[in-house]
Amino acid sequence: QWGTIREELNQTMGANSFQSWIEPLTYLGSENGIARFQVPTNFMGNYVSQNYGDMLLSKITRLNPSIRRIVFDAATSSASNENRASANTKTEAESLSAPAVQTKAAPQSDSLSGSPLDKRFTFDTFVVGKPNELAHAAARRVAEGGPVTFNPLFLYGGVGLGKTHLMHAIAWELRNNHPHLNVLNLSAEQFMYRFVQALRDRKMMDFKELFRSVDVLMVDDVQFIAGKDSTQEEFFHTFNALVDQHKQIIISADRAPEEIKDMENRIRSRLQSGLVVDLHPTDYELRLGILQSKSEMYARMYPGLEVEHGILEFLAARIVSNVRILEGALTRLFAFASLVGKPISMDLTQECLTDILRVSERKVSIEEIQRKVADHYLIRHSDLVGPKRVRTFARPRQIAMYLCKQLTTRSLPEIGRHFGGRDHTTVMHGVRRIEELKKQDAQIAEDVELLRRSLEA
Ligand code: ADP
Ligand code: MG
Repeated sequence: QWGTIREELNQTMGANSFQSWIEPLTYLGSENGIARFQVPTNFMGNYVSQNYGDMLLSKITRLNPSIRRIVFDAATSSASNENRASANTKTEAESLSAPAVQTKAAPQSDSLSGSPLDKRFTFDTFVVGKPNELAHAAARRVAEGGPVTFNPLFLYGGVGLGKTHLMHAIAWELRNNHPHLNVLNLSAEQFMYRFVQALRDRKMMDFKELFRSVDVLMVDDVQFIAGKDSTQEEFFHTFNALVDQHKQIIISADRAPEEIKDMENRIRSRLQSGLVVDLHPTDYELRLGILQSKSEMYARMYPGLEVEHGILEFLAARIVSNVRILEGALTRLFAFASLVGKPISMDLTQECLTDILRVSERKVSIEEIQRKVADHYLIRHSDLVGPKRVRTFARPRQIAMYLCKQLTTRSLPEIGRHFGGRDHTTVMHGVRRIEELKKQDAQIAEDVELLRRSLEA
């Protein structure tokens, strides 16, 4: 089968690419939906995975639909390299390809163009909150382009927390305010591909010269080159050369320098030698802020459509994973509403985002909410769910209902059942009442927030 695919690729790819990248692959067989290939080096594995992975996968699945993934095993046989390389000899082409923007191989030219900058990723569109204020401040500072203060600036944080956004924002700012500066913004992958290409084409001198001529070097997702020995080595030299010339370096990674495995110690300590700041996971306020900002943008794009604040609050409370998913939810919501020609209501939101909401469903239970609320107001659980209508019990009861609605996926009738068999209109009334009161009564708003936060923790 592999023979068939190879032949096909030989016909379609052009002799040069085929000989460089496909011919050296040895098919090792498949197991559990994974097809394995042996490649001579890590570099090749990465390159092939990145550039031909999707295509290979689609060809293979046509012949064998059970294959879902390709793994490239590097044959690291050179004795001196064996120990170090063994920890990282696999590169995988997931069947879900990464975001398209950065994964395409950089055009091979002799000039230095980095990743194209995303127009949406500026400081103007970056919402600042507690979790990211330090990272934002540091990014602002280096973006001023003054004398180099901390070198490098090392930004790290989990996926979707705004690292790439901040990197682009810095690059935009520098480009606008200091057009004479040679700013190079690229991903660590791109750095590697260029390096590999330079090796292959015997153009290392050019490569070195080009990289040493930039004024500001920005490398995104530097964890990518961990375990890739020669790339690390070259990166280290580039890094040192630039620091010696007092050129600003800005690095991002998905974890702290000390947590990047397979990174040589001298490189790690270099990375730590400037300012290291992290982007913390978003909190409720930041998520709400981002939702507000994005929904204003969408409201301009879709005239006549708007989202109520209550729905944004609901989404901010329920979708905690990362900003990318939060954005995706909003995009879908607007598109869906405009398609069906309906206003964005809570029902529509739940219908359109079922899958996202299900995935990020909290493990908070109705019982837990009731317990927390009863404790908070120093009342008994039996009074919270009981029939008494005095305000001391009724208000906490409504707050508990409101939180159940916000933090669980239970329906109104279900919630009602947990509150001494009340019917769904009573629950709805309670929820609405708290929504109103939150706007008028600071104490209630604060209580609700406090409770929500402690339930979320
Ligand atoms: P990372 O590189 O950390 O994985 P990105 O920078 O690609 O994350 O961010 C993912 C998405 O979330 C982008 O569309 C980005 O604009 C958005 N985003 C993340 N943080 C913020 C923020 N604080 N304000 C506005 N948008 C944000
Ligand atoms: Mg990124």
